Order: sequence, then C-alpha cells, then structure tokens
Amino acid sequence: MKKHFGIIEQLEIIDIADEGRSVARYNDLVVFVTGAVPGDIVDARVTRSKRNFIEAKVVKIIKPSADRILPFCKHFGTCGGCKWQYLSYAKQLEYKQKQVSDCLQRIAKINTDGILLPVKPSLNTTFYRNKLEYTFSCYRWLTDDDMQYPEEGRNMNALGFHIPGKFDKVLDIETCYLQEEPSNAIRLSVREFAFKNKLSFFDLRKQTGFLRNIIIRTTLTGEVMVIVSFFHDDEEWRNALLEHIAVTFPQVTSLMYVINNKCNDVITDLEIQCYKGNPYIIETMGALKFKIGPVSFFQTNSLQAYELYKVVVDFAGLKGDEIVYDFYTGTGTIANFIASSAKKVVGVEYVRSAVDDAFENSKLNGITNTIFHAGDLAKVLNDSFVNENGSPDVIITDPPRTGMHKDVVMQLLSINPEKIVYVSCNPSTQARDIEILSEKYSLVKAQPVDMFPQTQHIENVALLVRK
Ligand code: SAH
Repeated sequence: MKKHFGIIEQLEIIDIADEGRSVARYNDLVVFVTGAVPGDIVDARVTRSKRNFIEAKVVKIIKPSADRILPFCKHFGTCGGCKWQYLSYAKQLEYKQKQVSDCLQRIAKINTDGILLPVKPSLNTTFYRNKLEYTFSCYRWLTDDDMQYPEEGRNMNALGFHIPGKFDKVLDIETCYLQEEPSNAIRLSVREFAFKNKLSFFDLRKQTGFLRNIIIRTTLTGEVMVIVSFFHDDEEWRNALLEHIAVTFPQVTSLMYVINNKCNDVITDLEIQCYKGNPYIIETMGALKFKIGPVSFFQTNSLQAYELYKVVVDFAGLKGDEIVYDFYTGTGTIANFIASSAKKVVGVEYVRSAVDDAFENSKLNGITNTIFHAGDLAKVLNDSFVNENGSPDVIITDPPRTGMHKDVVMQLLSINPEKIVYVSCNPSTQARDIEILSEKYSLVKAQPVDMFPQTQHIENVALLVRK
C-alpha cells in the first residue's frame, strides 16, 4: 500500500461529507477534506493515509467556490464551533437535505422520492442556543492580534472555548453569536472583574487556580441561569464575584455556584449551590412549562425543539386512546408534549435525575397519564416490560448519536407497534436502524429539521408504519 503524506496540490472539491468535511478525488482514492466546500480548488495537507481513503486539511485555497460567503464571526476558523459559517444558510440547508437523502438511499436502501420532505429551516440562524459553557484557562490561545504584543506583556488568561484538539488551550471570546444576551455581556463582565481583581484562571496542567467554568442557560421567557464553577473555595472572592454578577445583571433569575476540584469539568455529580434566585429556570413551549435545573437536559435550540416536537405529534397521528412509549425520553419533554393526545405515555431513560425531572415536569403541568422508568433500554425492554405497561400503539424513539442498540431494534420488531416515530440527530445511524426495521416497517415520511444552523448537524424525524 502506498502511503500518502505532505501536501496534495490542486484538489477539486466535489461533494460534501459527514462531520462538516468535504470530498475530493486523488488518483483512485477518496479524500476527506477539512476546511473546504464543494467547488473549491485547494492545496491540502494529508493528516491520515489509509488503504482506500485519505484525510487532509486545507492549507491554501487556490480558487474559492462560488458558494463561499464571508464568515460573520471574527473567531471563525480558530474557534471549533459554527464550522459551516462559510456557506450561505440556503446552501447549508441544501447540504443537510442531501446528507439525509444520501443516508436513507445508501444505508437504508430506500428510494426517498415522495417520502423525504424538504428540510424545515431554523427560525433563528444565530443566537439560537439556550446553553453555553465558557472555560477559564491560563493557557490562552494566542491569536495573530495577541502576537503583536511583546511576550512579557501578553495576558495569558482567557475565558471562552477550548481549541479543538488542544485540551488545555482556550480561545478568549469577544462576541459569540450562539446565545442571546446577556450571555456575552456576563462573560465579558466576569472576565473584567477577574482581571481587575487579579483572580487566577484555572491551570489545567498543574491543577491550580480559582476560576474554572461559567455556564449560562437562557429561556425564551427571558429567565437566565448562571452557574460559576470554582476549582477551590475562597468564600470572600467567591461572594464578591457572585455579588458582582447579581448587581450588574438583575435579569439573572438563578445564580448558582459549585466547587469542582476534580480533574474534569463535569458538575453533574457535584452539589450545586444557589446563591440568589431560584435553583431552576422555567422554559415554556406552547401551553407547557418545563423546569430546568442546573444539570437538566433540555434541547439546546428551544424554538426549533418546539418545531421538532410538532412534527413528532403530526407523524404520531394520535387520536387520544393510544398507549405510547417514548424511548430515550431525557427529561420527558416529548412524553409530556404528547400526553394530552394519548391515553398513556411511558418514558424510558437511563439517567435517573432526568427521570426525576420528567416526573416533575408532568406534575408542573398537571399531567397524570405519564410514567417514567429509569434504566438502560437494551436491558429493561422485554416481554414483562410490555405486559406491565401495556402493548404500545406508537413508539417514539430519540436515541443519542450512536443510534439504537441492536437489541433495542430487535425488541421494536418483536413488540411490533403500528407506528414508530424515529427522531434522530445522526442520519447515518438512523438509516442503519431503519434498514433493519424495514423487515416489518415501511418508511412513509421523513422530515429533516434544522436545529443547529452554521453547523453540519441535522435532526431527522422518520415515520415508520407496520407493513
Ligand atoms: N427525547 C429527549 C432527549 C433525547 S437525548 C428530548 O427531546 O429532550 C437522548 C437521551 O437518551 C439522553 O437523555 C440519554 O441519557 C438517553 N440514553 C442514552 N442511551 C440510553 C440507553 N441505553 N437507555 C436509556 N436511555 C439512554
């Protein structure tokens, strides 16, 4: 096998691939290129060479594609987010549609004519996220601007996002276009306060420093949650910083903090304290309310989540007398959303705290026909589960990116409900599962919904009906 290395010149980009990459051909090999769009001619450096494909990264754009637009964020290209900002939104949608269509045709081997509906665009293409986590680090990623200062005068502290592939380096962010205000304002103000008072930023290598992370969650109703994570406790400075946030941003309805002296940033297993306001925020969706705690899962684009769930309701076509299972229910959002259209909804989810939230959300909305089980679907789903909960007419399933476990897919075939509504954030694993289900099910409709503008991600809802 011939190994390729170095730079391949004049590669013509011919198609889009997964994970925001694009495709070119080199001799008889497929090249997956990072940093290019179809229509570009580029020089690219080989990063991996295999028997039947090469991976490469753009080093120079020789001729830009006509599809290219100027990214609107100054951090584009350095920051790991918003990988598709160099495509117009119309083009992004075209490629997302193609991704779903390719998966269904190639992997599920289904002719999508008349089945695949046009992608639903996102109602907001910027400031659409309801949650962001910023990181404090004393290993600032030095941009060209930073490099203009002499080394001694450089500020090495940063508050922003991790640089992809560099575990300790953080890019200091000026403006991020992903979350509504006061997200940027809070981050900048906290950074200013920390600089002025010489508070130390976390040193991930040496495991020292005071300030670690700041998580901001917002709702469509204007509630704001701020969680500050400190590496160790220093009551005086902790209170000073939290008070600064409380006074400067009276719109913060939930101000929380946590002391995290572990090696990783995860706070789900720690005690999170409330400094001011409520220990939760309330999001609304139609007539429903959802209580979101500091570690509760909630779809990150609230406006589009509503659009997505409306498609689920439409595809499920409930009349009111059905037993519905909602698999991978998270905090029971879909289960609660459809509860008024069904006789009974049974949710399954393996994170116990999410199940607690699901029950809580039913209670908050006066819903009495839902029940939630905590457990791994691959283990809990069996004949006695069905005997106990009743034979379902409709199963809604919304697995993580890896798709459903093979045993779960086999159980679906054995339970054999009339309809399966399959919500997926990864069209390729969804297509893999649909191919197995096609033994007993026909794909009747599929509706891609864009939840993540400026990225390659696409959500797809599929309606499968018993043959
Ligand atoms: N349907 C929900 C959340 C979907 S995210 C919503 O729309 O908000 C997928 C969920 O599946 C996560 O909450 C995750 O914890 C859960 N999960 C992942 N693997 C699981 C498994 N094997 N068994 C049960 N739940 C699982």
